[in-house]
Amino acid sequence: MFGYLEILIFHQLSPDYIGVELGIGESLLVKAIGESTGRSIAVVKADLKKEGDLGLVAQNSKNSQKTLFKPKALTVPFVFANLKEIALSTGHSSQNKKVSIITKLLAACQGEEAKYIIRSLEGKLRIGNAERTVLVALAHAIVLEEQERNNKRLNKEKLTARLEQATEIIKSVYSELPSYDLVIPALLEGGVDSLRDQCKLTPGVPLKPMLAKPTKAIGEVLDRFENKRFTCEYKYDGERAQVHKLEDGTVGVFSRNSEDMSKKYPDLMDQLPNCMKDTAKSFVIDAEAVAIDRTNGKLMPFQELSRRKRKDVKVEDIQVRVCLFAFDLLYLNGEPLLHKSFLDRRELLKEHFKIVPGEFDFAKSSDCDTVDEIQTFLEESVKDGCEGLMVKMLESEASFYEPSRRSVDWLKLKKDYLAGVGDSLDLVVVGGYYGKGKRTNVYGAFLLACYDADGEEYQTICKIGTGFSEEALQSHYDTLKPLELTKPRGDIKVGGAKPDIWFEPKVVWEVLTADLSLSPVYTAAQGLVEERGISLRFPRFIRIRDDKGADDATGPEQIAEMYERQVLAQSKGGKKKGDG
Ligand code: ATP
Repeated sequence: MFGYLEILIFHQLSPDYIGVELGIGESLLVKAIGESTGRSIAVVKADLKKEGDLGLVAQNSKNSQKTLFKPKALTVPFVFANLKEIALSTGHSSQNKKVSIITKLLAACQGEEAKYIIRSLEGKLRIGNAERTVLVALAHAIVLEEQERNNKRLNKEKLTARLEQATEIIKSVYSELPSYDLVIPALLEGGVDSLRDQCKLTPGVPLKPMLAKPTKAIGEVLDRFENKRFTCEYKYDGERAQVHKLEDGTVGVFSRNSEDMSKKYPDLMDQLPNCMKDTAKSFVIDAEAVAIDRTNGKLMPFQELSRRKRKDVKVEDIQVRVCLFAFDLLYLNGEPLLHKSFLDRRELLKEHFKIVPGEFDFAKSSDCDTVDEIQTFLEESVKDGCEGLMVKMLESEASFYEPSRRSVDWLKLKKDYLAGVGDSLDLVVVGGYYGKGKRTNVYGAFLLACYDADGEEYQTICKIGTGFSEEALQSHYDTLKPLELTKPRGDIKVGGAKPDIWFEPKVVWEVLTADLSLSPVYTAAQGLVEERGISLRFPRFIRIRDDKGADDATGPEQIAEMYERQVLAQSKGGKKKGDG
């Protein structure tokens, strides 16, 4: 029943880790519209050219069709079941089946329904509800329902406190068990107070990973961790991989974004049983999958992994092998370990898994405590092909695993920071500028934006256009073309940016910048440092982050923080403030 919530609120047929997706091709939809409304394909196509929106074409076609009987009203369960059947049909004969289901759905549509059904099928229906809004709304719903049930109205103060408490509980439970199918029934049955006991981390449902805060200098690490036990680990340059094993022996690997990666890493799936000891009956480990040269055991950069296809990879076609570096154990044999100290979790990890050279290892770590030791270990990590270090609290509550949080108890120390470049940013491509000269068939530059999760809006930050090869521009064009929009989406805070074309905010790029400056044109972090926004000077494209969704992009607070650090560093160095 609760799959309906996903479709009504997020327009998804299933949670990300199950990955049932719609995205039916135009020609199939044109055919179905024609069949259900008795119009020829040529006429439907001509309408599409005029309207530019197949949803509207379907609606107009339906409404101009005379029907003798009013069709039976569509219900959410009926639409949901049919959409799911369409998404799950595969193979050659599936085409006819899909057309016939769509035709059946369209036949029952009234008013505007055809427009929304077709947009859903195209994968173009935008609802734009962010997860946190939905979780807050759930908390409100459950508290209001509680008041009704108890027939007792709380005064304003108590109501606010109860809402805050419920929101906090629901958010934390959801970050551990991100499945509405499991959380909502438990909420309805036992209420909010018993939710933590009812819904716990469960193998098979990927949890939201814990993240780290950037730190710029080793001294900062010591300021934060002084007098506490901490450890430094290699920060591997690969892809986050959460490995789950269920009691029944099923093994799954999930990305940072909770997507099922078993099709991308069939080799890893084959390798995994070799590293599990018999005592590890069910578990969840947090790890990094890294490209490795098996001939000499050397680690290779992330770019090697990113060349792999994301789906249907065949083991025999794989050129670059992957080694898994485990750094945390979150669940073991029926017990969630999130509230154990990291020291204990790490011990359990080493007890229940074994090193398989070239296939599986534990993240290399050193429990150092002086600047010199950290510096030496950092240099060693870079020499071994890593990005730098992750510094983590080892003991006490501060070392608990906090799903989905960017925590100060995990600091990342990258070699780039030390070179004074600062952390990279993950930005969303929201606009394009047509190319000139040889580049007229592709976009020559792009408008990027950060994401403000509180305001649920994208804020423009810079134009980026140098350093792309012809090949790269072609490939970006191919990816972005289907996302073109003629006007900016409502949640883009445009400012003075004027790209030639807008995009659906979906694609995330990692970008480095030499410098940040205040800008009257762009809207990023407006009002945080001063009224003007902040922009990137000389932004440089590093890589596509297809393991990140648009709402995982860097936020305005982080950008304001980076700007302020830069101002501070410049004033210390005697330079003047970088106004631009
Ligand atoms: P980045 O761009 O730095 O990868 P991110 O936003 O993906 O950033 P961060 O929290 O900033 O995530 O950095 C942590 C990432 O580093 C993890 O998501 C993981 O993929 C990777 N990583 C590599 N080695 C480790 C390690 N030893 N412990 C934790 N994470 C590690």
